[in-house]
Amino acid sequence: MKKINNAIGGREVVSNSGRVAPVFNPATGEQVAELGLSSAAEVADAIAVAKAAFPAWRDTPPLKRARFMFRFKELLTENTDAIARAISAEHGKTHDDALGEVARGIEVVEFACGIPHLLKGEFARNVGPAIDSYCDRQPLGVVAGITPFNFPAMVPLWMYPISVACGNTFILKPSERDPSAVMFVYDLFRQAGFPEGVLNVVHGDKEAVDVLLKHPDVKAISFVGSTPIAEYVYSTGTAHGKRVQALGGAKNHMIIMPDADMDQAADALMGAGYGSAGERCMAISVAVPIGEKTADALVEKLIPRVEALKIGPATDKSADMGPVITEAHKRKVLRYIDQGVKEGAKLLVDGRGFSLQGYENGYFVGGTLFDRVTKDMTIYKEEIFGPVLSVVRAKGYEEALTLINEHEYGNGTAIFTRDGDAARAFADRIEVGMVGINVPIPVPVAYFSFGGWKRSLFGDHSIYGPEGVRFNTRMKTVTTRWPAGIKDGAVFTFPSLD
Ligand code: NAD
Repeated sequence: MKKINNAIGGREVVSNSGRVAPVFNPATGEQVAELGLSSAAEVADAIAVAKAAFPAWRDTPPLKRARFMFRFKELLTENTDAIARAISAEHGKTHDDALGEVARGIEVVEFACGIPHLLKGEFARNVGPAIDSYCDRQPLGVVAGITPFNFPAMVPLWMYPISVACGNTFILKPSERDPSAVMFVYDLFRQAGFPEGVLNVVHGDKEAVDVLLKHPDVKAISFVGSTPIAEYVYSTGTAHGKRVQALGGAKNHMIIMPDADMDQAADALMGAGYGSAGERCMAISVAVPIGEKTADALVEKLIPRVEALKIGPATDKSADMGPVITEAHKRKVLRYIDQGVKEGAKLLVDGRGFSLQGYENGYFVGGTLFDRVTKDMTIYKEEIFGPVLSVVRAKGYEEALTLINEHEYGNGTAIFTRDGDAARAFADRIEVGMVGINVPIPVPVAYFSFGGWKRSLFGDHSIYGPEGVRFNTRMKTVTTRWPAGIKDGAVFTFPSLD
């Protein structure tokens, strides 16, 4: 059985905790690896290594740091296919989907290559008589990242390239479910020549996370995962004096206006609702057609598409989506479908009985479509994180807007329309962090920043892009005056420029 270990200070370190977690291939249900779960003391050791590596890395000129990043980017590009295969083997997403994930991760590395320019501060001459001021952004020290299963390569790449480019050293605590892609990418990072201790990977569960949240030598925490854990990470980390950005779960709505192209809207919903088996934080899980006529037309287009979904393992090139991540998660998704039926939603396509010949032990769930879902139903209120799309019929535009604004999550949303006025008003008034106009999954590119509103993000900063640089640095402002005037004696009034 393949064993997956920590990587600390450039070395593979086997955990002595005696605790391990199995890693499965979700398409077959077979265990493919065993992951050592770190003890609190082992995480503390990793923090000490990262802390020791910080002073030299902090003083390495940003241009030199960028040159390591350029090499890392080249290695990622050369190995894209292998990384995608490592993702699919433990996550289950299709190969093309995994390739897309890697591509979006590489874009953040490309952004981080521009760090010398991004760290430049501001300078003002003569802020007072012969007094100059400048400010720049300096690294924080040891930063930690805790990541979810659903983008095992991309989400870590949202975090550490920018953090280390800024001059921090980093500890990554990846998801226990699909750690192999993380380790593959870590190995490329090491090959790029970054000094030892700049990036360290510790595997583990709550025990490991708690050390990162409370240890005084960790200065900031980036978290991406479910909302209950995001809230816990935010409250615990900030209570221990850390800067925390904690990105949580989602329930993303897409409004379909009566003037929208129904084929285009239905196709967009298929990709955004069922791609990656619905296990994306930017998945559309609620379609909101405006008016009964639009709803009827949309549902008529959706039913045959959902029924025709091609479900299979990542090795099947023609598959549209793969399995969900674990047996337990599969059961949870099936329970949500049962609950939807019980609470009175109209089940148009039922994915509960789905089974794939030759893969009977895989964690597959068939594409599922509900109509006439209402806002008091559990399947509307909670994030299912599976291939289940709910249609909530709204009488008008204002009702749809209110529905979205009243939902506790505010990660992403979209509107499909040909009406520029409706689209512009939507973008203006909607209380959601990322908005798509005729774009179903509006994940910002690497030189913007990613972040939801409401209970989809705890903290002040979105992740990656310019916000990532701000999160990973603190500003220092220096005011300078040179010899003349210093010997004039003490001044006891509050300094002003007059
Ligand atoms: P999760 O919250 O279960 O796990 C995320 C991380 O937290 C993992 O590293 C895990 O080991 C750790 N963790 C789990 N339980 C913990 C505990 N009790 N104490 C401390 N740490 C703990 O999330 P997941 O199931 O891996 O990922 C799916 C979730 O992530 C979904 O809710 C999805 O919406 C969300 N997500 C959000 C974004 C975003 O950008 N907002 C992106 C991707 C995924």
